[in-house]
Amino acid sequence: MTEMDGEIVPTSLHDVAQPLEAGRPKAEMNVSDKEENPYVVVKRLLKQAVEALGLPMGVYEILKKPRRFMAVSIPVRMDDGTVKNFTGFRSQHSDILGPTKGGVRFHPDVDADEVVALSIWMSLKSAILGLPYGGGKGGVIVNPHDLSERELEELSRGYIRELEAIIGPEKDIPAPDVNTNPQIMGWMLDEFDRLRGQNMPGFITGKPLILGGSLGRLEATGRGVVIHIMEAIRRLGLNSDGLTAAVQGFGNVGSMTARFLHEQKIKVIAVNDAMGGVYCEEGLDIPALLAYSREKGTVAGFPGALPLFSKELFQVEADIFVPAAMENQITEETAPMIRAKIVAEAANGPTTTEGDRILHDKGVFVIPDILCNAGGVTVSYFEWVQNAMHYYWPEEEVNEKLAAKLRQAFETVYRMHLEHRVDMRMAAYMVGVSRLAEALFARGWIKAGKQQRAIH
Ligand code: NAD
Repeated sequence: MTEMDGEIVPTSLHDVAQPLEAGRPKAEMNVSDKEENPYVVVKRLLKQAVEALGLPMGVYEILKKPRRFMAVSIPVRMDDGTVKNFTGFRSQHSDILGPTKGGVRFHPDVDADEVVALSIWMSLKSAILGLPYGGGKGGVIVNPHDLSERELEELSRGYIRELEAIIGPEKDIPAPDVNTNPQIMGWMLDEFDRLRGQNMPGFITGKPLILGGSLGRLEATGRGVVIHIMEAIRRLGLNSDGLTAAVQGFGNVGSMTARFLHEQKIKVIAVNDAMGGVYCEEGLDIPALLAYSREKGTVAGFPGALPLFSKELFQVEADIFVPAAMENQITEETAPMIRAKIVAEAANGPTTTEGDRILHDKGVFVIPDILCNAGGVTVSYFEWVQNAMHYYWPEEEVNEKLAAKLRQAFETVYRMHLEHRVDMRMAAYMVGVSRLAEALFARGWIKAGKQQRAIH
């Protein structure tokens, strides 16, 4: 627990989810021991947004906890005949705007608090974008690179079997996240269809096209990041010709962001991934790098570029810095190294509180994660709509609708930023929280004081 403004505030899921804790050893719960606990951070920002909007504190009381949180055990028969029992989580933060929605992460560092924080960010993202969704998120503590394909499939199917009772197209809709992809979504969909005895493509998004996936979904998050970067460039009065960028992470989001930056004639001069990095002052040949990393599984060793160690990426002289990997990357240590004018948070929670303060003091324009990477959930929403209609749109239509929604969201948050003289992160929280509060009032969960209106 920590004390915030005289109030004792729970700092981890241990403090809010007693039933979960009961009967489980702490180590098994895997509560966050990260450098900065993202659940603590998101609660603090939620509280500040509620106060800045003059909303009743009941809004914070409700939004600070997930409505439902489930931990599951997933036994997997390994190829060598042994059994390994993996721990998985699903957090359903809020369903007041619609069914909960959010990705599933396979990573050794997944923990309960991280999953809850990610689900709260999903609620805010959907609210900012005006999507009829609440926030959800899932994760399994595993390094998927240690598993064979058969073991990975069994784990993915097992995760869905354990959660079957609480998920579904009108309840909670999973999607890809770190280390999960369309193939894994395909296995998960197949498992769910078998359990329900019917074909339910709207149960999951980010699935293969042949199973009802949407054109444009794979590219959507990176495409959205670049749409926001172009909006920021315009608002800051910069000329995009000759601008340079550095991208951390070259998975789905990072690689697509690099591709669309390249298409906008912004020179991507440095990228890295978990295995290494590359730098080229004249700009990396992104189409060739995409093909290389698809084949090799890493950007490291890309011919014609200099190698780059992980911390060196922060020191690169680039106008735009895009963290597209994991949480807590822009920190007290790395933020001072960043020379960019724009930081576009493609990853969720890439900046620590201290890192954020340093960027703010340096006058860096930060496009916050809950706005910046919302292209993914937006096209997931389009996929779900197409599944419900059994009618599929051409890719141009998906991309046009995506761009229109994102530009509108950017405009709303930017207006909030100017009118309330708050940074873009607080502006995004305020837009999201105001819409969630409006739903709480409309549902009668909280009585509005004076007439409270959401920002539209
Ligand atoms: P991914 O698994 O496809 O890729 C992750 C990439 O990060 C990999 O290239 C990996 O090597 C790299 N990486 C990991 N640790 C690193 C480190 N310390 N330094 C440099 N690179 C590192 O995952 P993704 O789907 O691209 O997700 C990336 C981020 O974007 C996550 O924060 C995720 O929550 C967020 N996000 C993803 C989506 C989506 O649609 N996939 C949507 C919104 C937000």
